Amino acid sequence: MGKNIKKSSGNRIVIIGGGFGGLELARRLRKTPYQVVIIDRHNYHQFQPLFYQVATAGLEPSSIIFPFRKNFQRIKNFHFRLAEVDSVNTEEKQVNTSIGPIDYDYLIIATGAGNNFFGNKEIEKHALPMKSIVESINLRNTILERFEQALEVDEDKREEYLSVTIAGAGPTGVELAGTLVEMRSNILPVDYPELDFKKMKIYLVEGSPRVLNAMSEASSLKAHGYLEKMGVEIKTDTRVDAYDGETISLSDGNNIRCRTLIWAAGVKGNFLDGLPEGTMGRGNRIHVNAYNQVKGLEDVYALGDVALMTGDDAYPDGHPQMAQPAIQQGKLLANNLKAKLKGRSMTPFKYKNLGSMATVGKNKAVVELPKYKFSGFFAWLVWMLVHLRSILGIKNKFIVFLNWVWNYFTYNLSLRLIIKRDLDK
Ligand SMILES: Cc1cc2nc3c(=O)[nH]c(=O)nc-3n(C[C@H](O)[C@H](O)[C@H](O)COP(=O)(O)OP(=O)(O)OC[C@H]3O[C@@H](n4cnc5c(N)ncnc54)[C@H](O)[C@@H]3O)c2cc1C
Repeated sequence: MGKNIKKSSGNRIVIIGGGFGGLELARRLRKTPYQVVIIDRHNYHQFQPLFYQVATAGLEPSSIIFPFRKNFQRIKNFHFRLAEVDSVNTEEKQVNTSIGPIDYDYLIIATGAGNNFFGNKEIEKHALPMKSIVESINLRNTILERFEQALEVDEDKREEYLSVTIAGAGPTGVELAGTLVEMRSNILPVDYPELDFKKMKIYLVEGSPRVLNAMSEASSLKAHGYLEKMGVEIKTDTRVDAYDGETISLSDGNNIRCRTLIWAAGVKGNFLDGLPEGTMGRGNRIHVNAYNQVKGLEDVYALGDVALMTGDDAYPDGHPQMAQPAIQQGKLLANNLKAKLKGRSMTPFKYKNLGSMATVGKNKAVVELPKYKFSGFFAWLVWMLVHLRSILGIKNKFIVFLNWVWNYFTYNLSLRLIIKRDLDK
């Protein structure tokens, strides 16, 4: 319990969330006089950019998650608590959690972002999100189950069981669509010889005028071209308005009959109850200043996806909700907290854009670095290297690399397993 962490006076930093931002901060506070307590609802860090490969049976879940305790073995000033944080009490300097209240001297909110269904309860009930490893496994189970069910339904219903619709054509939607096409061409007809996979349609529905709309128009066009050639049915300038589990209603007036709708269309900040009025900004994010301090609070900071820093002229609506802003903010905040110990002043945050990228399938990717933009095979290699570099743990890196090599030559990883919690059987 939180109460059993012996508090060293005046310098306990409680970090809520061990994602990209929270973890970077905690690592950089190792062996400092601060007592660091990470609270997370999971006991592992998740590498979200590769969730789609778990969902499409390309990688084992354990190869892209990493236990916090392993990361901080033998670090004396580090403590971890597995708990859900319900609210914060900034007067008492406490966070209220599922294991009781935990006191803080400095609080860092690094809770990231969750799914945004824009208030549509029906879509929330029936669509499949992919914001955690558990949701990715659930997605894998559902996709595979639909194929099993397709074997048993009448011929005229097969198409709706085999087809997959993805809402949202950001990197996640594009990557999922590309991988599903490759499965449709290479793996599924062999696994299910009784099914006709010409009936499996892959729809990519995007509300804005183009796919990968956060990237340049050239990259977006390139990715669009790749996907179209692969046989993805792309609908831009179109929103998913409703879904009852069988029929998807689109804003252009058309309907798609489809039993699998993947939701990659929106996120909102994981805001916490108890923060003062006026701290919640656009997209449920928390208003922070250039030092990541929460508006009006001296000892509370927010960083990463949940933080809304609007002071930077280049990012008036806040930084992109991507790994790099979270990591860079975590790094700077660690330095600023160390500076505080020495009575030095803090440095304001300036985001360094290192670029963005997305892969569309084997040998196909688009990459935008600050000075260069490129696509194709080389971009795909760069995408792989960058992701391999970022995964935590040498063993994980090795396993992912091995899986990719195997998959490249055989297209045939045997991870197409439906594993569900069913303790009675
Ligand atoms: C499918 C997918 C693909 C992505 N691909 C890319 C990509 O290719 N490139 C890129 O740059 N970015 C990508 N992103 C975005 C990137 O993952 C996020 O921007 C990044 O993780 C933000 O880091 P963070 O530290 O703010 O939050 P997160 O990494 O989301 O971490 C938040 C942590 O807080 C914990 N938490 C939340 N609420 C509570 C609570 N109430 N109590 C206890 N614990 C809590 C969570 O369990 C989690 O561990 C992707 C995201 C997704 C979902």
